[in-house]
Amino acid sequence: MTPIHIIGGGLAGSEAAWQIAQAGLPVVLHEMRPVRKTDAHQTEGLAELVCSNSFRSDDSEQNAVGLIHHELRQLGSLIMSCADDHQVPAGSALAVDRDGFSNAVTTALQNHPNVTISREEVAGLPPCDWEKVIIATGPLTSPALSAAILEKSGEDALAFFDAIAPIVHFESVDLSKAWFQSRYDKVGPGGTGKDYLNCPLDKVQYEAFMDALLEGETADFKEWEENTPYFDGCLPIEVMAARGRETLRHGPMKPMGLTNAHNPEVKAYAVVQLRQDNALGTLYNMVGFQTKLKYGAQADIFRMIPGLENAQFARLGGLHRNTFLNSPKVLDGTLRLKADPRLRFAGQITGCEGYVESASVGCLAGLFAVLEARGQEIVPPPATTAMGALLGHITGGHITRDEGAGKPGSFQPMNVNFGLFPEVDAPNKDENGKRLKGKDKTRAKKLAMTNRAKTDFTGWQAKLGPVKQAAE
Ligand code: FAD
Repeated sequence: MTPIHIIGGGLAGSEAAWQIAQAGLPVVLHEMRPVRKTDAHQTEGLAELVCSNSFRSDDSEQNAVGLIHHELRQLGSLIMSCADDHQVPAGSALAVDRDGFSNAVTTALQNHPNVTISREEVAGLPPCDWEKVIIATGPLTSPALSAAILEKSGEDALAFFDAIAPIVHFESVDLSKAWFQSRYDKVGPGGTGKDYLNCPLDKVQYEAFMDALLEGETADFKEWEENTPYFDGCLPIEVMAARGRETLRHGPMKPMGLTNAHNPEVKAYAVVQLRQDNALGTLYNMVGFQTKLKYGAQADIFRMIPGLENAQFARLGGLHRNTFLNSPKVLDGTLRLKADPRLRFAGQITGCEGYVESASVGCLAGLFAVLEARGQEIVPPPATTAMGALLGHITGGHITRDEGAGKPGSFQPMNVNFGLFPEVDAPNKDENGKRLKGKDKTRAKKLAMTNRAKTDFTGWQAKLGPVKQAAE
């Protein structure tokens, strides 16, 4: 049987290779290190963790990341079994000895009879005789391959200086202070004139917010990011603030065209706008609030904004170089490039963010490739599961964000989070019939979501039976 070729032996490529090999099919894994290095990797090990050694929360009842750990384990994930074997103490998080972990992944793949590892850069589109290919080259895809993918996908950009604005869970916004209104009640395509959530600041609040922004601690640039210029369209909020105390009031915090629905007589001195970020309406991004402030500083400073005092962040802001496809446009529902279905994509290059998310998309790409090679129907995991919710974000079902007048909408990478899941019917009373409130209510809802996900994942996995049988 002709092998499935995987380009990139990171988190996604290693997991994809494992899934294919375990299903009994031959796989060739092409990894360019150590022949060619990236700006962040330090070793030649497969699945190297380029930064933190944490796979984040391992709590599969209350955390969407913990849930994706659970789903990966259900699928016999190599990344999770090596992580479990090389765990280091980290409270409820799953952190690993990074070298032990990477060595274990490398050894498992090297020793697998169905896997061939080829240390080479694939410096352009794969040769035509590679009939099935998974590209999992990550945020630091080599420039030659990036250029070839760019041309093939027909897009005009692939590598971005990624400006990330924080994203807030809608249910954590205080609607007794924030209100829905589009600036000047403008009704855009598909809009209602009430498309934005607005948080008002008076002069005292604005000045205090400015002070905090200007004093906030920022993250350092990586050495290889230092020469990447800022674009004026995505200046970090603290850089704008440093240009003058009024700059933000004339930029992303301008109060014009807005009337405080809770207090129409009083004109807000400044307004922070939040825009719907997913089709479900469970997530809102802070418009124009891209930042390099450290995470702890961001949470403290942004909670000074009236209406966001108890904000829960699905993602905090950031600014770094990244390489990812405009996946909802260029990929089909099973991660294949529409312009060349022989090429399937996996990992961070598809627009997920994070180690376990990348491994999950690698896992799915591997399974999809196996099913396709066998001529079997590919049924993606349901949207109610963590993997299905993440796949939904990547391949569709989200809203494409309008980045400003005259600019094309853009798709932004995302960690897995509960905002990507469909709503769930959660109990609103405890076992004694007492009404649930606050944290108890949130916990009950998360538990209902993770219970539903586990049931639905088991059902979906049962349909994958033939993949497993063939491996035995
Ligand atoms: P990678 O793990 O990067 O794997 C891609 C592989 O492809 C690499 O081994 C590379 O050498 C190889 N490759 C590239 N081009 C070619 C080519 N043409 N031919 C052959 N091989 C090629 N996520 C977290 O969860 N926690 C963090 O702390 C974190 N920190 C990050 C820090 C930085 C600087 C970056 C860039 C990202 C970080 N991420 C982090 C995000 C993301 O989770 C990781 O980048 C993750 O490793 C992505 O997995 P991947 O498999 O898609 O890509």
